[in-house]
Formats: sequence, C-alpha cells, structure tokens
Amino acid sequence: MARSLKILFATSEARPLVKTGGLADVSGALPAALREIGVDCRLLLPGYHPVLAGVKNLEPALNLTNLPGFGPVRLLHGEMPDSGVPVYVVDYPFHYQRPGGPYQDVNGADYPDNAWRFALLSRVAALLTCPLSPLMDWRPDLLHCHDWQTGLAPAYLHFVGCGTPTVMTIHNLAYQGIFPPELVSQLGLPLESFAVEGVEYYGNLSFLKAGVYYADWISTVSPTYALEIQHAPLGMGMQGLLASRTNTLSGILNGIDTADWNPPADLHLPCEYSARGMGGKKHCKRALQEDLNLEDNPQAPLFGMISRLTHQKGVDWVLQVADGIVDQGGQLAFLGQGEATVEQGVRDLAGRHPGKVAAVVGYDEGLSHRIEAGSDLFLMPSRFEPCGLNQMYSQRYGTVPIVHGVGGLKDTVEDEVTGFVFGEPSAHGLWTAVERALAAFADKPHWRRMMLAGMTQDFSWEVSAKEYAALYRKLVG
Ligand code: ADP
Repeated sequence: MARSLKILFATSEARPLVKTGGLADVSGALPAALREIGVDCRLLLPGYHPVLAGVKNLEPALNLTNLPGFGPVRLLHGEMPDSGVPVYVVDYPFHYQRPGGPYQDVNGADYPDNAWRFALLSRVAALLTCPLSPLMDWRPDLLHCHDWQTGLAPAYLHFVGCGTPTVMTIHNLAYQGIFPPELVSQLGLPLESFAVEGVEYYGNLSFLKAGVYYADWISTVSPTYALEIQHAPLGMGMQGLLASRTNTLSGILNGIDTADWNPPADLHLPCEYSARGMGGKKHCKRALQEDLNLEDNPQAPLFGMISRLTHQKGVDWVLQVADGIVDQGGQLAFLGQGEATVEQGVRDLAGRHPGKVAAVVGYDEGLSHRIEAGSDLFLMPSRFEPCGLNQMYSQRYGTVPIVHGVGGLKDTVEDEVTGFVFGEPSAHGLWTAVERALAAFADKPHWRRMMLAGMTQDFSWEVSAKEYAALYRKLVG
C-alpha cells in the first residue's frame, strides 16, 4: 500500500473551536475529509482559550526553547472534539490567552501585537515542517497554509533552505496582514527579503504577500475566482504577483456540510423531503409563508435570499427588481443583516408589499434552513463571490438559484440546467435572469427536472479533498 501523505494544516481558526469566517468551516471539515481518503492531515492551531478548553486528550508534545524573539513555547497535542483529527496547539498564553476574539479585543480593535502572534504561528509551522523538525515521530511531507495569519511560514522555510513544499490558500484576499517595515528583521526575516521580489508590499510588510511569493503553490476557493484575482479590481493590489504565478495558481471549490444541510434529515424543517419524495417541500413552503406572514399561495413563485446585507452581495440589484417580481405574482423572503442603509431598504420594501415581501433582519440559523427549503428560487447576485455556500445549499434543497456568473457561483451553477446565471453586472442583468426563471417555473415538468438536477449534484467535501490530495501528490512528487 502507498505510504500515506503527511500534511500539516496550519490555520488560525477551525470550527467548532473558533470561528470568525469561512476559513473556520474549511479548517473544520477539510482535514477530516482528507483523512477519510487516507491523507494523514493534522492541524496546527494557536492556543486560544476555546482551543485549550475544546481539544480532546490534550497533552504536552514538546518544549520549543529557541524561537528568536519568543520565550519558551509549549507544543501540545490532542484531537478535534468532533472529528478526532489530530491537532497540534501552540501554547503561548502571553499571545493567545485573551478575552476577545482571535484577532480583536472585546471592543473590536485589532490586537496591537498581531504581527507577533501570527509570526509565532508561522514560525512553529515552519519549524515542524523542516527536515530538522523537533517532532521525532511525525514529519510532514507538505505544509498547507491559510490566509495571511500563516503567510510568513513559506518565507521562513525558504530562508532556512528547507525544501519541503508549501501550499498557500487564499480564502479572503481582502485581509493581507500588513505591518510596518521595521518588523521585517524583528520577526526574523533577512533584510534582503524586504523587496518587490519578497515580502515588501507598497512600502510595508505583508504576511499574505510573503505566502503568495514564497509558497510553491497558491490556491483559492474556486477556479473562476483563481482567474479573477489575477486582474484588477478583484486582485486587490496583488493581481500583478498573482498573474506572474499563473502556472502555480489554481482554484478548488469548498464543499458544504452535507450532514447539516440535508433535507431528508434536517431538524430545522417542519417536514423532511428528498429527491425521491418531494411532497414535503410543498409543506415547507406553506409553513414558511405562514411563519413570515406571506399570503398562503402554493402557486406564487417564492424567492428566498439569505445574505450579509453588503454591497458585495448585490442586494441593491434585488431591491431594484423586487417590484417587478411582485408584479409578476412572486413573493420574496429576505434574511440578513449588515449595512444599516441596506437593512432599511429591505425593511422598506417589505413595508410596501405586505403579504408579498417579508424581511427578517438578524442572524437566524434555523430560519436560514427553512428559507432554503420553503423557497422555489434563491437569489444570489453577488458582485464577486470567492466560493459562496448558499447557492450550493439551494440546489441540495431543490431551490433553483439565480446567480451572477462570477467566482464560485459560475463554477457551481449551470445556466438553464441547475439554475440561472446572468453576466451583465446590473439590476437589468439580474432581471433578465428572473424573467427566464419565471418562464421556466411556469413549465412544471421542466421545473421539476431543474430541481432534481440541483438536488443530485455532489457538493460534498470528499470531492474537494480528492482535488487537494492530487495537488499535494503533485507537489510532493
Ligand atoms: P459569505 O461567507 O460571503 O457571507 P457564503 O454564502 O459563503 O457568504 O456563506 C454565508 C453563510 O452564512 C451561509 O451559511 C449563510 O446561510 C449564512 N448566513 C448569512 N447571513 C445569515 C443570516 N442572517 N442568518 C443565518 N445565516 C446566515
């Protein structure tokens, strides 16, 4: 049998221990999916309070006494509470045990020593990956880094001349880990690294740029987004470097949690259903209409939208086409929170159309499942979308998505087969797709085929894990 690949997965958050965004979902799910297919993937996490409290069977593994700029650091070892994935924890209370979140204090201000906090995580990741790793019994074949918090690790590995391959995955290009240039030498990087061909980024040090520059491979969370970030504006200033690395840059779609988002066994729903027995979906629609004070009308096409209410998500385009949807006999169910003006716009729309438009401003996980199940169509006209989850949930729930053809939306929805994809970035573009969708909705056999086409898609993590495993194998050789 082939020797299993050993992967160190260095990340600053992982569900269910600590989460601020999609990175935590990926870090919680992907290592477990990789282990399922025989890859020996282990996590490396900072020892925040919830990590120390939540990791199972935590015990000391090593004492690291010679990390320049830091006192003695303890490395602990245990298992993730849900999946049992092995996890190494960097125990350094001075940097990690604080009230507040992983990056910000209780008042929402960034910790002033974030550069040090995540340089330490990157240092330990690099140290454990080197051939001279102090971990005697487990030596990774490859280091997989995520976002700016682990971006310095490929640079550290480069400068100790260690040839272990590295992958840098970008989950959010908007956060680039930018710090003053004087930190370069304080954090143990050679001064010559502060250059365009190095960690320098518009006069500052960028952790993400370091990772993108020194990693052997760069990945992001969908193939289309991997192309889009090689150009302005989605490259957010890094498009030149990303384009220069086009032959070592790829996109791998995130999976979804198919146990949590599973219409035959979803405890949030009033009634279960599946591709083989769709009757329950009608019941879910009726219950949703009742719950949200929408008219009890099984024939009305019900459009759902669950979203952060921000400019990115194209809610303004939805507000512009909403009157037209209502004129055509449609209904809308919104769930979201975000920018105050957008929240108000959604509330005003609902006020103008009682019984036809419902707006719930807030965060409600149960309701998000009930909207996915009870709607006929789902609106996701994001201006840009690195991967996106709701369009995948929708398909699994037989709720046909209408999406802007960008990023992960383009890669997961097939126009006129599993959903409707529009190209023109405007309310008019969205409206043309809504019109096509309403025509299709009126043709019941055709609509049913579209619902089933979506419900039988495989968006499981297993698919993504196989792609990551293939990438690791290519790099390890
Ligand atoms: P993003 O990560 O950009 O917000 P995604 O579609 O990738 O967008 O993921 C958003 C996740 O958050 C989905 O699981 C979605 O259902 C959930 N979500 C967003 N807003 C709300 C809300 N107001 N209430 C419940 N769930 C929400």
